[in-house]
Amino acid sequence: MSVSKRVVLHFPRPLVDQPIIYRLVRDYNLMFNILRASVTPKEEGLLVLELSGEQEDYEKGVRYLTEVGVEIQPLSRNVYRDEAGCTHCGACITICPTGAFVLELPTRRVNFLDEKCIACGLCIKPCPPRAMEMRL
Ligand code: SF4
Ligand code: SF4
Repeated sequence: MSVSKRVVLHFPRPLVDQPIIYRLVRDYNLMFNILRASVTPKEEGLLVLELSGEQEDYEKGVRYLTEVGVEIQPLSRNVYRDEAGCTHCGACITICPTGAFVLELPTRRVNFLDEKCIACGLCIKPCPPRAMEMRL
């Protein structure tokens, strides 16, 4: 059975320049489509991929990723903003790898474009009033 799943991969700094995705293709017959790629301020690599292949190959590929130290996050969680809690401080704008926060001028309001959010969770802790929430 073929599967196609969207996942967020977090690469710790020592793994950022390793040929890990190449091995997914060569050794596990998986196809990938890069949806987003970025390096976070902590220099962790973040890759949003659509991975496709046979179910068995997918499971082996995911096991390989986990064994080498890549953290895998399925895109099944949702991130919300408590609109009343947001102070529009702007701290999240440069953190978000997908540009889901946009400064509106001249009001200087920070708009949250949830259709751009990939639920990576990077904005949750840095938000001073804890207005960003992740729910299952
Ligand atoms: S960091 Fe939090 S409070 Fe500041 S603009 Fe972003 S969501 Fe709003
Ligand atoms: S969870 Fe936050 S930082 Fe990550 S994509 Fe969504 S809005 Fe951006």
